[in-house]
Formats: sequence, structure tokens, C-alpha cells
Amino acid sequence: MNISSAIFDRSAPDLDSCPDESLPEFAFIGRSNVGKSSLLNFLAGQNGLARVSPVPGFTRLINFFTMNKSWRLVDLPGYGFASGPKQDRTRFSGAVSDYLENRTNLCLVFALIDSGLAPQEIDLEFVEWLVRHAVPFVLVFTKTDKVTPAAVQANIAAFTARISAWFEKLPAIFTCSVQARQGRQELLGVIDEQMTAINTASIPAPAANESSPGLSLPAPARQNRKPRPDLHRPW
Ligand code: GDP
Repeated sequence: MNISSAIFDRSAPDLDSCPDESLPEFAFIGRSNVGKSSLLNFLAGQNGLARVSPVPGFTRLINFFTMNKSWRLVDLPGYGFASGPKQDRTRFSGAVSDYLENRTNLCLVFALIDSGLAPQEIDLEFVEWLVRHAVPFVLVFTKTDKVTPAAVQANIAAFTARISAWFEKLPAIFTCSVQARQGRQELLGVIDEQMTAINTASIPAPAANESSPGLSLPAPARQNRKPRPDLHRPW
């Protein structure tokens, strides 16, 4: 996938301030300092897209970017930052959970994990939360240039060992390094696949009482929350 346009839409402090649900959304989230802003800029091919924050946790709003006029890249606030007023922390984690649970046009979450670290409790807790709330996600291990390939593999293996009991089939795992310019096409490829599935698959809007998965775009009002689409994901 080529990114021909990446346009900032808005920063939203809560779900009600988010844009309409007319475009499929792909959201990125991880612990502060995991390398999210760098990765988003790398994916978009624009250095100024997401700000690479000088202070962990500085970015606390949900940021929306319209990509190729056809989908949205969603930059979710990092979790686990320690500084900042407690009220803000609560508010923003509430906004994030609200978004993840209720946003009907959310197609997929990219959960970012630092590949240079042994499994961190906060990441494990977050993944467990995603599983519990049936949020579709893939894992992306970042900054693979920082440690040896063997250490990256060991950290990924340790992480998957901790979460494997929660799944019949593990979520898809990707690696990336902005420094080494690795992983961009693979991640964009996942989005491309989903977009193709949305555009080509005959995904009928469910009938009124039907609970079968379906994505109708423009998406319905949140009150009528529907199961998210099962786009024949390989994970
Ligand atoms: P965020 O807080 O998750 O948005 O993380 P940032 O993108 O602001 O990055 C945090 C720090 O990690 C910055 O100093 C980045 O330069 C650094 N960083 C980000 N990606 C990489 C990477 O792929 N490799 C290395 N070595 N450092 C990275």
C-alpha cells in the first residue's frame, strides 16, 4: 500500500468528539515511549504526522488522520504514564476504553510492545483487556534494532508464552524498527488486506434481529452497537 495522502482530522478528548463513523479505523496504542509516534510517522511517510513526544504520556488525546481519503489512522494515548494529574489519567483511559469498546468502525488495533524488554505487566494487562472485550488486534514488537535478533525473539517468545492460554490461536505478530526502516510494508499490508475485504467482500448489513457480523458503512449509531466484522482474518 502506498500512502498518497495523510491528513489530520482532529484530536478528540472523548468518544463523543470523535469524527463520524463513515471510514474504517485502524488504531495504534502502546505504553508511553514504545515508539508509537515514530512508527506512525514512518507508516505515513511523513515526519510531522504524529509528534514524537519529549515527555512520556504528553499526548493524551485521540488523534485521527484520514489516510488515502479512505481510512483513518487513529493515534490512541499511551497507557501507563506516571506523570500528569490523576484526573486526566482517569479521563483519558476512560476515553480510550470507551473508544475501543464502542467504536463500531474500528477494524483493528495494533498493540505495540517494546521488543527490547521482557514481558511487562502493564502490556500483559492491556492485552488481556483487549481479549476480554473482544477487540480485534495484532501485536507489533517495536524497536527491534535496539537489541540482538536473538533477544527480540526471546522477548517475543516470553510474551506469547504469557498470553497463549487466552487464545485458541495467537494473534498475528509483527516486528518493526523505525531506525532500521523495517516493518512498514507488512503493517500497511495488514490494513490493505482489511480494506480490500471491506470493499470487495459481500458483507451484508445484518437484518434487524440478526447477530451475524457485518460492517455497514456509513456505520450505524453507537447505540445500535453491532459485532465487528469478521473479515476472514488470519489471526
Ligand atoms: P511514543 O511515546 O510511544 O510515541 O514513542 P516515540 O515515538 O516518542 O519514541 C520514544 C523514543 O524511542 C524516542 O526517543 C524515539 O526516537 C525512540 N524510538 C522510536 N522508535 C525507535 C526505533 O525503531 N528504534 C530505536 N532505536 N529507537 C526508537
